[in-house]
Amino acid sequence: MHVLILGGTTEARRLAELLHGTAGPRLTSSLAGRVSSPRLPPGEVRVGGFGGVDGLVTWLRDHGVGAIVDATHPFAETMSFHVAQAAAVTHVPLLALRRPGWVPVDGDRWHETGSLEEAASALPRLGRRVFLTTGRMGLAAFADLDDLWFLVRSVDVPEAPRPRLMETLLDRGPFTLDGERELIRRHRIDVVVTKDSGGAATAPKLTAAREAGVPVVVIRRPPVPEQVPVVPGPEQAARWVLDRLEERSFRVVD
Ligand code: NAP
Repeated sequence: MHVLILGGTTEARRLAELLHGTAGPRLTSSLAGRVSSPRLPPGEVRVGGFGGVDGLVTWLRDHGVGAIVDATHPFAETMSFHVAQAAAVTHVPLLALRRPGWVPVDGDRWHETGSLEEAASALPRLGRRVFLTTGRMGLAAFADLDDLWFLVRSVDVPEAPRPRLMETLLDRGPFTLDGERELIRRHRIDVVVTKDSGGAATAPKLTAAREAGVPVVVIRRPPVPEQVPVVPGPEQAARWVLDRLEERSFRVVD
């Protein structure tokens, strides 16, 4: 059986590692191609968009895909809806691997917003020195905030439009609590902006902000296709793939 993993996340890579080398399926991980030197999972890898729902339907048929795991980032909304439609058309079983969102705890000063634009409008009343961790795409939403200073952390160099006063920190997770504490202290950060990405790799900034009494603007997750079953981790997703494989071998024997 050929399994397609829609990736771009730590969990997608972990899933490929779990399945690779089992006497299991042929694996292809798919990456959008946004990052110049991505960490590659084991197994086959393809890079770049499929060309919308129709392109994905064709790809699934041409490559005899028997199961799909959508392990894209919780904010990769378009891809998640595209694959739900393509799976429905082709009748290929689809699972979403989606890490749970973060939950505020005592001492957190969270301001939840529905979009990058809403986060940008909330910022001027919350602080002047912003630690922006939403990635290099979408910086345009903050480009008109000429009075604020930004520390922008991203994997690759952000392109214009971007804020006038900013420093770029090229880095990728996982991040440590000590490192996040030091960034907030050294840059005199007075507000943090994050997507509700969930997961442990980028969570230490939330703890560091809480300790420093710094508010955090948290961008809520976009909607997801309702009909797709969801698991929270790579282990459960690997189990699901192996169950599909077993079902299929029973059908072949029948
Ligand atoms: P998106 O808005 O949902 O998708 C835009 C288009 O990019 C899709 O229509 C598709 O093009 C292509 N695409 C997205 N994910 C793909 C994949 N895994 N393989 C092949 N094509 C893909 O996605 P995005 O938010 O730009 O995210 C792009 C990638 O970065 C995803 O793989 C995601 O897991 C990763 N990522 C995203 C974020 C984030 O905050 N959004 C953070 C970390 C990592 P076609 O229509 O041509 O097929």
